[in-house]
Amino acid sequence: MPAVEGLMQDYELSIQHVLWRIERMHPKKEIVTKREQGYHRTTNGDMVLRINQLAGALKRLGVKPGDRVATLAWNNYRHLELYYAVPSMGAVLHTLNLRLFPQHLEFIINDAEDKVLFVDQTLVALLKPLAGKIPSIKTIILMTDGAPAPADHGLGEMLDYETLLKAENDDYAWPKLSERMAAAMCYTSGTTGNPKGVVYSHRSQFIHTMGVLQADNLGLTEKDTVLPIVPMFHANSWGLPYACGMAGCKVLFPDRFMGDAKSIVELAEQEDATILAGVPTIWINTATFLKESGKRLPKVHTVICGGSAIPRSVMEAMDGLGLRMLHAWGMTETSPLGSVARPRAGTDPKDELNARLTQGMIVPGVEIRICDAASGEELPWDGVAFGEIQVRGPWIARGYHNGYDPDKLTEDGWFRTGDVAKISPEGYIQIVDRTKDVIKSGGEWISSVELENAIMAHPKILEAAVIGLVHPKWDERPVAFAVPRPEFKGQVTQAEIVDFLRDKVAKWWLPDEVRFIDEVPKTSVGKFDKKVLRANAAPIKESAAPAGRA
Ligand code: ADP
Repeated sequence: MPAVEGLMQDYELSIQHVLWRIERMHPKKEIVTKREQGYHRTTNGDMVLRINQLAGALKRLGVKPGDRVATLAWNNYRHLELYYAVPSMGAVLHTLNLRLFPQHLEFIINDAEDKVLFVDQTLVALLKPLAGKIPSIKTIILMTDGAPAPADHGLGEMLDYETLLKAENDDYAWPKLSERMAAAMCYTSGTTGNPKGVVYSHRSQFIHTMGVLQADNLGLTEKDTVLPIVPMFHANSWGLPYACGMAGCKVLFPDRFMGDAKSIVELAEQEDATILAGVPTIWINTATFLKESGKRLPKVHTVICGGSAIPRSVMEAMDGLGLRMLHAWGMTETSPLGSVARPRAGTDPKDELNARLTQGMIVPGVEIRICDAASGEELPWDGVAFGEIQVRGPWIARGYHNGYDPDKLTEDGWFRTGDVAKISPEGYIQIVDRTKDVIKSGGEWISSVELENAIMAHPKILEAAVIGLVHPKWDERPVAFAVPRPEFKGQVTQAEIVDFLRDKVAKWWLPDEVRFIDEVPKTSVGKFDKKVLRANAAPIKESAAPAGRA
């Protein structure tokens, strides 16, 4: 018998639909951006007119479907205009990570063959070392509130964003798009290697947006005011720009003040934010600022946190300040939402915190498995066995731009994440480590993440990162790098930390050394940069009395 075809419309899933919604459903919703002085305010309705003008300007500049349009910009309203205009006209939005080294930026721009580059006035200096090295870029457009670009940038003529828009009509004829077309690309931030281009399709972005909105996921609603502190240049800003558009949220942008806890708290307070989102380092600073200033944010009901494991001490501190954290896991290659930690129905209140500290439940639409590193066999969900997380689903990458790293996809079509985890019988994922960070000691694995979190729970410690250093007998042994809280600088000892750990981790997990440093080096997106720690670390001192060796 021939299969019977469904009689539903072949409606192409695309960013144009989100644009339609902000125009028709939510035109009065505001977008507020922090500027050097005060705030810039606009509405979706006014922004849509500018999005039409922007598409007209891009077309006049020769941008065609499939062309890559790069942005080097903070979280602000102009960047949001680009998020809509570029994909909706069939071109590909390429968000450049402004914290990368010049040679990485150069590599990425050339690898993507970007044609047009939009740059915030405050970021032009970052491009200076790239002068003469990015031949695919035909036009650079400056986004400024009036201040000129620095005179000596060496990049040739720059067009002015506002002047370009003013010359255009506000009724661009959007083309018909296919949902399989590329909408955007973003390079991995290179925490464990060279950046690689992840290419999102309209379809993947659309379905991911619907996934983000689900109540058991990030659960944004029309009543929410969202402050994304997670950069728009990294992993889609966790999908929040389109999710906010789809749901009709008011949006707050911190622009270049993302690392400034005072500015963040003021913006959230003055504009009645209900949802905040950012990596754990942001919340470490925010909690400190709130404690010191005595300020509180009673309207905030959810603080989304992901990008690296949230330390228990940070979740407890934020909970104590009335800011309820929601822990999520994902990566650039998963658009990024993969799992969200909401305790299941019937969870005993005393187990709630532990459930929220896991990486949570895999979200509807995505499938997950854990596999043994050596045999490749799938492992049971027993909360004990751990192996590499592999995922598949409609918003999971199947490859990288220009075909790098083809082995990331298994033969049967699952994406290898490089994260090592165990999964409980209830389905809670617990990340143990990254395959490249896990410490291999005497044939057994030690989780650097668990050790770090245990050390960061010490009252005198602000930050800690643990790496494995080569050891002649044990292959590798853990060495901790700890940053004392300012008031305890010079007053905390290795013995104190190791004693503190004794009843928290297995004896053979105890670090061989604890080295005190002023700051843990961070990656471009604020994660602990273990590559840098490893590269600069002195070898393990053989004379040191090993705390953890058998
Ligand atoms: P990069 O791979 O360059 O760090 P990504 O932002 O794509 O850039 O990072 C994704 C990785 O971050 C994941 O593979 C995982 O190792 C880590 N990560 C993300 N969220 C969490 C989380 N909630 N807990 C632990 N690790 C996380």
